[in-house]
Amino acid sequence: MGKDYYKILGVDRNATEEEIKKAYRKMAHKYHPDKKTGDEAKFKEINEAYQVLSDKQKRAQYDRFGSAGFSGAGGGASGGYSGFEGFSNFGGFSWDFSSGSVDSFADIFEDLFGGASKRKRETSEERGSDIKIHINISLKDSAFSEAKEIKVNRMVRCSRCSGSGAEPSSEMIKCPSCGGKGTQEKFFKTIFGVMKQQEVCDECLGKGHVPKVKCKDCYGQGVVRKTDVFKVKIPAGIDDGQMFKVSKKGNEAPSGPSGNLYVVVSIKEDEKFKREGDNLKMDLPISFTQAVFGDKVDIETLYKTVKLKIPAGIQSGKVIKISGYGMPKMHGFGRGDLLVRVNIKTPEKLTRKQKKLLEELKKEGI
Ligand SMILES: [Zn+2]
Ligand SMILES: [Zn+2]
Repeated sequence: MGKDYYKILGVDRNATEEEIKKAYRKMAHKYHPDKKTGDEAKFKEINEAYQVLSDKQKRAQYDRFGSAGFSGAGGGASGGYSGFEGFSNFGGFSWDFSSGSVDSFADIFEDLFGGASKRKRETSEERGSDIKIHINISLKDSAFSEAKEIKVNRMVRCSRCSGSGAEPSSEMIKCPSCGGKGTQEKFFKTIFGVMKQQEVCDECLGKGHVPKVKCKDCYGQGVVRKTDVFKVKIPAGIDDGQMFKVSKKGNEAPSGPSGNLYVVVSIKEDEKFKREGDNLKMDLPISFTQAVFGDKVDIETLYKTVKLKIPAGIQSGKVIKISGYGMPKMHGFGRGDLLVRVNIKTPEKLTRKQKKLLEELKKEGI
């Protein structure tokens, strides 16, 4: 019954797609003709096995009929794969797929050969892409879960054609670009030379038909660019450089679901507070006598004014904690603490009386 493709890739008959891909990748690396461990015949065999097992339809066919079912006109062990016949003379290397594994195959080649075939499959049914934007907010904004207006430049579904790309009265015709197949052959360069691959048709995006008259507003794209303003809630406690998601506010697609909007937050430096984890730190200048006798002072925290008791005899640099007046904890409950560092100011300008009194103190050894 011909070759055992499962055995060639060293996988189980009921291996998952992922397992097959992994096994292929590993073996292709090992036996690649450019490698020390390379083996051209073996590499060819591995590729042949992978072409079949990575394609659902071909795999099912193989499971029923064995590799003989694939040999086509060429027959025999090396099979009828136009793709690998030209292997020894690199110029004529091509894949001839009608559907299916093209994508994953290209992906793997991208991995192996470093982005030989950068491309994206796009169809009209696909979801809109995600958008990432940056916003700059104050520390205070980041402490409260308030709604903020943000501007987003994004693609939205065209209202004139509802995403169809057709002028409201236009009929649909067969796509002139692909002849209605929905796919096109694309050529791309690899170390093997130029390869051929089936791709979704750019013109009809795989549908096979296009409007006779394209929509005037979106030029047949189904989407138009628009600047939207959204009110979004900034998660309380978000830190500098963190990101939050606004569902479905990314780019809209002609017919699929919308992408998401990701907002990266930069927090402006605050004059008074410095953030450290969930805690806030601040400096509090006090006078010499406040330090000596102690005092009660008003501290304006982010939330409200709090009375802080300064104990008598406090030293400069000492930190007093005000529990629960730091940043809200994004994950979890409550808030961090506010850490107040006391800074004793040395008087620079003295009145005659102050000077006299201080001199008295000096005599007392203070
Ligand atoms: Zn339109
Ligand atoms: Zn087309």
